[in-house]
Amino acid sequence: MPVFDVLIVGGGHAGAQAAIALRQRGFAGSIAIVGDEPLPPYERPPLSKDYLASDKPFERILIRPATFWAEQAIALLTGRLVTTVDADARTVTTADGVTLGYGTLVWATGGAARRLSCGGADLGGVHGIRNRADVDRLQTELPDATQIVVIGGGYIGLEAAAVLRKFGKQVCLIEAQDRVLARVAGVDLSRFVEDMHRQQGVAIRLDTQVACVEGATRATGVRLSDGEAIPADLVIVGIGIVPAVEPLLAAGAAGGNGVRVDAACRTTLPHIFAIGDCALHANRFAGGAEIRVESVQNATDQAAVAARAIMGEDAAYDAVPWFWSNQYDLKLQTVGLSSGHDRAILRGDPASGKFSIVYLRDGRVVALDCANNVKDYVAGRRLVADGVIASVEQLADPAVPLKTIAA
Ligand code: FAD
Repeated sequence: MPVFDVLIVGGGHAGAQAAIALRQRGFAGSIAIVGDEPLPPYERPPLSKDYLASDKPFERILIRPATFWAEQAIALLTGRLVTTVDADARTVTTADGVTLGYGTLVWATGGAARRLSCGGADLGGVHGIRNRADVDRLQTELPDATQIVVIGGGYIGLEAAAVLRKFGKQVCLIEAQDRVLARVAGVDLSRFVEDMHRQQGVAIRLDTQVACVEGATRATGVRLSDGEAIPADLVIVGIGIVPAVEPLLAAGAAGGNGVRVDAACRTTLPHIFAIGDCALHANRFAGGAEIRVESVQNATDQAAVAARAIMGEDAAYDAVPWFWSNQYDLKLQTVGLSSGHDRAILRGDPASGKFSIVYLRDGRVVALDCANNVKDYVAGRRLVADGVIASVEQLADPAVPLKTIAA
């Protein structure tokens, strides 16, 4: 049985960065990454942006060049799904029956695209966007599609809609809530994004429930709960992820919607860490609530924390969450977590395309959404990190640079 000093399950952002961080810090032991995708680690954000738009080939979205892993003596065991973990024996077993031993296990499995729970979810032409294979499949069907329904007005659905409009497709986006980005942004930003998409020709249907996807073997349309049918040659589903944590929970790790970890990314099982989208952690920027953060920043920062802890250093995750999204000409950067804010302050004029929204909780800056406004984003990170209390008048005045307030 092959045994590795550090065995990383999941070859995505977090898993790759954990291996990289260990080597950068001089870890000399054996490292393997076992992942179910048949590919070296690659960046996921372009999947709904440049890669979907065919603006970037796959080689340009690799996290490191293909030769890097062997050069760094990091074994890549691709195409292998880990199905069981034995925390006492310190082994994992893969779906094809291979058992691997570990000194330390790092669980970095992200999540699977959530599927529709209604009828027709498995029909041909219904796609999620979580990995390269999803996008490659979608791309083979795109040339024959004219009308596309996107279900879900989160980042991925909106980004996909923007790319599809670029391809000249008719796009209808269906959102169950009364605004897009409801989970992650304030109302003003939602309205701005909705207007932008409408101007670009996307039909946005808010407060709208899907009853089923219709079709015999392939999707032909989406039936709404009020009975209306929207014709579709393709359906793209972007309704979040389900964290891939079953084997670890079955092995006895605490968790539910993710694997519970402490500040050093340790699970409740000995010698097992969890990082990235699947890690449920108490987050200072969420008022101490246990959350999972689905972002490259979080995956990278938690990977670094776990690497340090594995090497015996004191390490605690306390990074300011940040996220970006590109849609048409909009470069949106978000810092902090706006959920639970009690005041939102607009800086600048959305009609100009360049503005920010500053979110306060109890007078403190907790988050910013920055539309085409990098300066605000950079200075805003400081405001959020320090929980700065600033005057509303100053925050609302785009002529007052945020960096002067941060200082
Ligand atoms: P992943 O990158 O999902 O990697 C997990 C890997 O583990 C996958 O390869 C998975 O197949 C594998 N795996 C799962 N279970 C097992 C198992 N049992 N055995 C073996 N392997 C397993 N974030 C941003 O910050 N900005 C963006 O603009 C942005 N855009 C995005 C666009 C898209 C389309 C998607 C899908 C995500 C986007 N994200 C973005 C989120 C970001 O990509 C994730 O937060 C990040 O990839 C999380 O890294 P991870 O390693 O935790 O999970």
